[in-house]
Amino acid sequence: MINISGTYQLAGGAEAYPASAMLYETGQLVIQQKTSDEKLIESWPDEYIYGTVIPGLPVDIIFPDGALFIPDDSSFRWPAMSNKHRLAEWLESHWLTVLASIVIVPLFLWGMVNYALPAASHAAVAFIPDSVAESMGEQTLYILDKTHFDPSELSKQQQDEVTEQWQNIITKLELPESKYKLHFRKFGMGANAMALPDGSIIVTDDIVTLMEQDPNALTAVLLHEIGHIEHKHSLKLVAQTTATTMLFAMMFGDIEGAGELILGAGTGLLQSAFSRDMEREADEFSHQNLPKFNISPAAFADAMTLLVNSHVSDHSDLDSDSNTSDAVDEIENSLNHWLQYLSTHPDTQERIDTARNIEGH
Ligand SMILES: [Zn+2]
Repeated sequence: MINISGTYQLAGGAEAYPASAMLYETGQLVIQQKTSDEKLIESWPDEYIYGTVIPGLPVDIIFPDGALFIPDDSSFRWPAMSNKHRLAEWLESHWLTVLASIVIVPLFLWGMVNYALPAASHAAVAFIPDSVAESMGEQTLYILDKTHFDPSELSKQQQDEVTEQWQNIITKLELPESKYKLHFRKFGMGANAMALPDGSIIVTDDIVTLMEQDPNALTAVLLHEIGHIEHKHSLKLVAQTTATTMLFAMMFGDIEGAGELILGAGTGLLQSAFSRDMEREADEFSHQNLPKFNISPAAFADAMTLLVNSHVSDHSDLDSDSNTSDAVDEIENSLNHWLQYLSTHPDTQERIDTARNIEGH
C-alpha cells in the first residue's frame, strides 16, 4: 500500500481539503480527509483515471464524479501508470534525445538493413527446408521460361559434351546428383550461366558455343555457379529481402503490402542481384576447386575475359533497350551477374587479376 499526501478537490468547485490517498495493490484507491477523525471521502476500485503527464507538475487522479486528487509531490508518479504515459513524459523532458532519435532512427534502419538483417537471414537460411528451395527454384525457372528463355537450339552432340563435363564435376566434388541439375536454354541476351536455389544451373546456348574451344573456362563458370548454390546465395537474398520488407511493414504499418511481397519471394529473387561479396565467394569456390580437375585458377580469368569480350560487341544493345519496362530491366540486370560488372567496371578486372594471381596447385 502506498500512502500519498495531497489535496482533494471537489468536482465543479474550488473547494479543496488536504487529504491522503492510499493506493492498494489491487488498484483500490481510498482518499481520506486529513482531519482528526480521518473522514473517508472517496473509495474507488479502479475507475479513476490519471491526468495528463506534464514534466514538473504532479499527476492528478480524476474520479468518475469529476473530483480530483492532486499529490503534493510534483515528481510523484503513480506506479500503475502505463508505460506509454511514462515514455511520453520521458520524451517530453528529454527533447535532446528526441532530436537525436531523428538521426538515430534512419541510422538504425540503415544498420538493420545492411548488417543485422543480412546476418540474421543468413543464419536463418540454415533452417529453410530443401522443399522451399526446390519450389523456389521451380517457380523461378518457370517464370524465366515464360519471360526470357527459349528451348535450346544446341545440337545433341554439343549438349552431350557439356553434360559429360558437368557429370564429371558433380562426381568429383561428391555433390548430390538428385539436387544438382544442368539445364540448356536459348537466351536472347547472350552468353550467360546462372544458378537457382534448388541446385539447377542454367547455361545459355551462347556460353556453350563461346567456350566450346576452351572447356576449362566453362568448368570455371560451372564451379562458380555451384559456389553460389553451395553458399545458398539465392536463399540468403530472398530471406534478406523478405526480412527487410517485414521490417519496413512493421515500422510503417503496410502489412498487406508485405504479405504480397513475401508470397512473391520467388519472383523477388529475380529482381535482386548477388552482392559483390557473394560473387567473390563464388569466385573463390571456383578458384579452390579448379585444381581438382588439374585446371589452373587462371581458367576463371579466361572465362571472364571471354564473357566480357563476347558482350562488349553487343553492349550497346543492352543500353539502348529502353522500350522494356523497369521490372524487366531489373530481372535482366540480376540475371546478368556475369555482366553487371562489364569491362568498364573495375570489379571485372579485379576478379580477372585475382584469378590470374593464384598459384596453380
Ligand atoms: Zn556469380
